[in-house]
Amino acid sequence: MLKRAALRADRICMHARAAPAEAIPANGSVPAKGSEEAARHICCTLTNVELGLVRKAGGEAAVAALLEHAGTTRPASYLEDIENWISLDEACALLAAGVHQTEDPTFARRVGEQTLDRHVGTQVATFLRSLGSPEAVLHAVAQTAPKFSTVTEMEAIEAGPGRAVVRAVARGGFTRLPLLCDWTMGMLAGLPILFGLPLAHVEESECQARGGEQCLYTVSWDAELAAAAADPQQRVTVLEAQLVAMSERLQSAYATASDLISTEDLDTVLHRIVERAASAVRAPGFVLAVHTEPGAELQVYSHGIDEQKAEALARATLAHDAQAGDSTLVVEVTSSRRQYGQLIARYPGAVQFFPQDEELLSLYAKHAAAVLDMATALQESVRRHDQVSSLLSLSQALAQAGTSKEVAERLAVAVPEVVDCDRMGVWLWDHLEQNLRSVAASGRTPEQAAYLRGLTISPKDTPHLSQMIAVPQPQFFEQETEDSFMRQLMAAVDAVALVVVPIVARDVFLGTLTVSVTDGPQRLRSDGELVERLTGVAAFAATAIQNGQLLDKLRHKASHDALTGLLNRVGFRQHIDSVLDSVPAGGGQVGLLFVDLDDFKQVNDAYGHEAGDELIRKAARRLEAIARESDEAARLGGDEFAIILADVRNDDQVRAAEARVRAAFIEPFMLGDVAVSISASVGGGLWPEHGRTVRELVRHADAAMYEDKAERRRQPIGA
Ligand code: GH3
Ligand code: MG
Repeated sequence: MLKRAALRADRICMHARAAPAEAIPANGSVPAKGSEEAARHICCTLTNVELGLVRKAGGEAAVAALLEHAGTTRPASYLEDIENWISLDEACALLAAGVHQTEDPTFARRVGEQTLDRHVGTQVATFLRSLGSPEAVLHAVAQTAPKFSTVTEMEAIEAGPGRAVVRAVARGGFTRLPLLCDWTMGMLAGLPILFGLPLAHVEESECQARGGEQCLYTVSWDAELAAAAADPQQRVTVLEAQLVAMSERLQSAYATASDLISTEDLDTVLHRIVERAASAVRAPGFVLAVHTEPGAELQVYSHGIDEQKAEALARATLAHDAQAGDSTLVVEVTSSRRQYGQLIARYPGAVQFFPQDEELLSLYAKHAAAVLDMATALQESVRRHDQVSSLLSLSQALAQAGTSKEVAERLAVAVPEVVDCDRMGVWLWDHLEQNLRSVAASGRTPEQAAYLRGLTISPKDTPHLSQMIAVPQPQFFEQETEDSFMRQLMAAVDAVALVVVPIVARDVFLGTLTVSVTDGPQRLRSDGELVERLTGVAAFAATAIQNGQLLDKLRHKASHDALTGLLNRVGFRQHIDSVLDSVPAGGGQVGLLFVDLDDFKQVNDAYGHEAGDELIRKAARRLEAIARESDEAARLGGDEFAIILADVRNDDQVRAAEARVRAAFIEPFMLGDVAVSISASVGGGLWPEHGRTVRELVRHADAAMYEDKAERRRQPIGA
C-alpha cells in the first residue's frame, strides 16, 4: 500500500552541534590533500572580486602574476566561480599577494567592500536584500556569514537602524588572520550598497587577529537615508527584490526541471540535482541519498564531500544519528508514490540555516522525487511490457498444445519464464474422484518427480483445498506454515515458499498451478504484481485446459467403445502399436487374445437386443477383471473382444490367460432375473513368434480363435 507522504515542513530537521572535535588544524593551515572538504573554508566570492580588481588594474598578466605570487595552482576560472570554495590559507595568500601587487595595504578591505556590490543579482545577494534593511541583514549575521566563510563565527550583539555591533571569532581550530579581518570589515562596510546606500563606517574596537579575545565591529551607516527604507516607495523596492529572489529561484528550478526531461540517465540527473541544489543553497557540502527502488541499495550522490564521508553522513542521517560537530539541513525526498531518501546540506560546525534554505532544498528534493517517480514509472512500463510479452509467448505455447496433459506439460515449461520461481507443478481436478492429481512439473529432481507422480490431494488432506475451491484466490505458504500437509509437501519438494494458484474457468474449478522457490522466499512475496502475474497465467491456463479437456473427451470417444467403455478397434490399434513401440530393443514379448462369444445371436433372439447389450457389457467387465494391470481389454465389434498382454515372457503365459478367459464364462450372466449361460471361443498369439507385425499377429490370434470355435462345434453339446 502506498502511503501518502507529501513533503512536509515538519519533516525537515536541523541539527546544530558544537564545534567539531575532528582535526581541523590551527593556524588555518591546509590539512593533507585528499580531504576535499578541508579546503572548503572561504567562498570564491572573495577571489572573484579580488581577481576582478587586479584584472581591471593590470589585465590578465597581473592576474597571472598574482596567482604566481600567491603560489596557488588553481586556474583563475576556478577562483572566479562563486560556487567554489578554497582554504583559509589559500585565501589569505591571495589577499597578501594582492596587497603586495597593488601596494595598497587596504586591499583586503576593498575586496570586502565590493563583494556584495559585485554580486548583486546572485541568489545570495538578492536573498540578503530581500531581508529588507541593513540592520535586518546584520541581525541575521550568524546565518549569513557562513554563506561566505566557514572558519568564522559571527554574531550581532546589537542591530538597529543606522548602527550595529557585530562580533566575530575564529571557529574552533582556526586562527583569525589580520587580512581576513580586513576583508570582513570591508564586507560589513559594503553591506548598505545592497540597499542603494553609501558604504557604512566600520570601526574595530577589539581584534582577535591582533591579540584580542574577539573581533568587535561597530557598523554605522546613514540613518536618515536608511530611514527612507521605511518610505512606501522603498518598501516596494524591497518587495521587488523579494520578487527577483523568488523568480531567480524559480528559474533555477525550471532549469533543473528541463534537465530532468532532457537527460535519460537517472544517475546523471540525480548528480545534477545535487549540483544545482549546491548552487542554490549555499553550504559547503551536499548529499543526496536515495533508494531508487524499494529494497535497493542506498545510492549516494554528493557535492563538496568526499564519497566515503558522504556515505557515512547519509547512513547516519537515515538512522537519525546526527554527526558530531556538523550542522545538517535534511529534507525528505518524498513523492505521493514513495519515500526515496534524503537530501542533505552539510556545514562543518554549528550554524543555523535560513528557513528559505529549507524551502529551496525541499524544492530540489521534490525534483529528485519527481525524477525517481519518472524512473520508477518507466521501469514499471518496461516490466509490464515484459510481462505482456511473456504472457503472449505463454499463450502461443498453449495454443499449440492439444490434450490437457500436453497443456499441463507446456505450462510446466513456460510458467517459470513468466514468474520468477525454481519449481512449478500443474495439478488437475478429477471430478469423479474429487481430488487433485499432479499432471506435470518442472524443476524437480527425479526423486521428487517420482514422489509426486500420480500423487493426489483431496480436501481431507488440507482444508486449504476446500477453501480454494470455495474462494478461488492464490494462497501463499511459507516453510513454517501451520498446515502439516502443506508443510510436508513443501519439504518434499524442498520449497521455502510456495504459491498455489487456482485454475478456474466459468466458475468451474479445473485445478491448480503451484510455483515454489528453494531459496529467497521474498521472491514469492504476496504483492500485487506477483498476484497479477500468477492470475494472468492461470487465466490462460484455464482456457487452454478446458480446450484440452474437450480434446481429451473427443479423443476418448474416438478410441473407446460407447457400450462397454473398453478400447474400440481404433483404440486397440493405437494401444497395441504403442505397446510394441515401447518393447525394449532385443527383448520382450507381447501376447494377444481374441475372444468371440458363442451363439450370441441366440441371446438377442431369445431375450431381445437390450438384454444382448447387457450381456456384452457384463462380459466386458469380466474380461477387465481377469486382465492384469499391464493388460488392456478391447471390444473389436459385435461380440468380439481382444486382450493385449503387454508383459509376457512365454507362450505358457498366453495359454494361462486363455484359460482365465474361459473360466470367466463358466458362471452364468444374470440378465434381469434370467441366468444366461454362454461360452466364449478364445485364440492367442505371441509377438514376435506368431507374427512380426500387428496385422500378422491379429491374423494368427483370429485364426486360433476360429479354430477354437470350430473345435467347440465339433464337440457334442454339454461336453
Ligand atoms: P458364433 O458362435 O459363430 O460367433 O455366432 P454368433 O451368434 O455369436 O454370431 P457372430 O459372432 O457371427 O455375430 C455376432 C452377432 O452379435 C451379430 C449381431 O446380431 C450381434 N450383435 C452385434 N453387435 C451387437 C450389439 O451391439 N448388441 C447386440 N445386442 N447384438 C449385437
Ligand atoms: Mg459370436
